[in-house]
Amino acid sequence: MAAETPFPESERPVIVWFRDDIRLCDNPALTAAANCGHRIICVFVHDEESEGVRPLGGAARWWLHGALKELDDALRALGGRLCVHKGVASTVMPQLAADSNAAAVYWNRRYGAVERRVDEAVKATLKAQGVEAESFNGHLLYEPWSIKTKSGTPFRVFSAFWRAAHEAGEPGQPLGVPSRINLFNGSCNQASTEVELIDLALEPSSPDWAGGLRSCWRRGEAGAQAQLEFFLKEHLKEYADLRDFPNRSATSRLSPYLRFGNISPRQLWHAAEAAANSATNPGLHRDLEKFRSELGWREFSYHLLYYNPQIATQNLQSKFDAMPWRSDADVLRAWQLGKTGYPIVDAGMRELWTTGWMHNRVRMVVASFLVKHLLIDWRQGETWFWDTLVDADPANSAASWQWVAGSGADAAPYFRVFNPVLQGEKFDPDGRYVKRWLPELADVSPSVIHRPWQLGSKVEAYAGRIVEHDLARRRALDAFKGLS
Ligand SMILES: Cc1cc2nc3c(=O)[nH]c(=O)nc-3n(C[C@H](O)[C@H](O)[C@H](O)COP(=O)(O)OP(=O)(O)OC[C@H]3O[C@@H](n4cnc5c(N)ncnc54)[C@H](O)[C@@H]3O)c2cc1C
Repeated sequence: MAAETPFPESERPVIVWFRDDIRLCDNPALTAAANCGHRIICVFVHDEESEGVRPLGGAARWWLHGALKELDDALRALGGRLCVHKGVASTVMPQLAADSNAAAVYWNRRYGAVERRVDEAVKATLKAQGVEAESFNGHLLYEPWSIKTKSGTPFRVFSAFWRAAHEAGEPGQPLGVPSRINLFNGSCNQASTEVELIDLALEPSSPDWAGGLRSCWRRGEAGAQAQLEFFLKEHLKEYADLRDFPNRSATSRLSPYLRFGNISPRQLWHAAEAAANSATNPGLHRDLEKFRSELGWREFSYHLLYYNPQIATQNLQSKFDAMPWRSDADVLRAWQLGKTGYPIVDAGMRELWTTGWMHNRVRMVVASFLVKHLLIDWRQGETWFWDTLVDADPANSAASWQWVAGSGADAAPYFRVFNPVLQGEKFDPDGRYVKRWLPELADVSPSVIHRPWQLGSKVEAYAGRIVEHDLARRRALDAFKGLS
């Protein structure tokens, strides 16, 4: 094989294997490759075949396509290209290294159990082939194993985790785009796993349901930078006070970019600090700390994923295995379609369906409604979110669902059952969020918009309540009390 490689022994290239780090800036694997001075082959492997891999949902696939396309464009502008492959990564990567006579393969780490297993297999095979294999941290502020309790065990409570993370010191400064980068723009694939991006069919075609997503998002690294700048300029200053109000758009909306690594948490950490320091308003430091603590929740979720690899499928508290979940396809469908009769829940579910994203406060309300009011297993909700969210994330998604359900590590007490009417009245007091997603309530006065059943037949177009709150609350409390 090596005889046919375009690279002679004296010019062995380095492969950079892109995964959840689809960017040029603050990409430690890419920077390490650039620092070697070797030619760099940039590779992405679409692997839905390795045992146990969870295929991406529809909205995330759509995002991935745009992010990869943008990375390819950026690499081409620098004289290279992105080689896209399809297959089992632990076979494709060593084969590619052999085909190209690569000296080394570099990548940034992932933290799910399957992904770690794949990486270990790739590393072992490469080493046996005499190819250097090195991984880096490009996804987190702190490696999950670096934050430990005093007795050396993993954390189960966020506040203690975040305090310990602070004690571990300030996250490092982000790296820039490598200034000198020697990219390869050919192909050295002899095993024919290379495909065109379009062949992955990541974007929907018939039907093309992605119109709503397309009008909301600019996928990829440039979009991430623009969104960050916009957030720091317009909304960081109100983040602490307004982040819970879905109609105020005061949060960063950077979650899909973080999910696919179009931007790194280190970039966010330091850019937000620079923005707070350069502002005349000293109050901004409160916003900065609040924003950073949300990045902390992301770190905590990855800590949980690392130490609980089955977090997306198994209750972290095993007593929840005895929960008498209801199985009711019609009720689940009504929740998915935003037809529960509770405006804040329905608005959230329709925002999700249309844009691939939902505001955090509303995510908590709709998740609580599914698990507690409808007594439907959190895994059913997680599966729907996985398919419909552009930011569907292996750590944040499952950790958040378990937190809401009460089955998680740092669980909200089971008796906290969000009242969807009061949540709506508190966080969408003028009903503007609800009206945006439920046009059938456009003419309803704010005083009753979160309890439209009080208007009787005047809002016939809107669904009747699927369940009555007090009854549902009592039923949930009884079910939760039965767990020991
Ligand atoms: C049921 C449920 C499911 C969720 N599923 C996901 C998911 O699949 N992917 C995902 O990224 N987030 C998920 N979250 C967390 C949170 O809702 C989103 O991260 C947030 O709404 C994204 O909006 P933003 O970027 O404007 O957040 P900002 O408020 O601007 O926060 C900045 C970043 O911090 C991180 N973050 C914020 N809140 C949380 C949190 N509670 N847990 C973990 N990380 C957080 C995100 O990466 C976010 O982009 C879920 C929350 C709930 C309640």
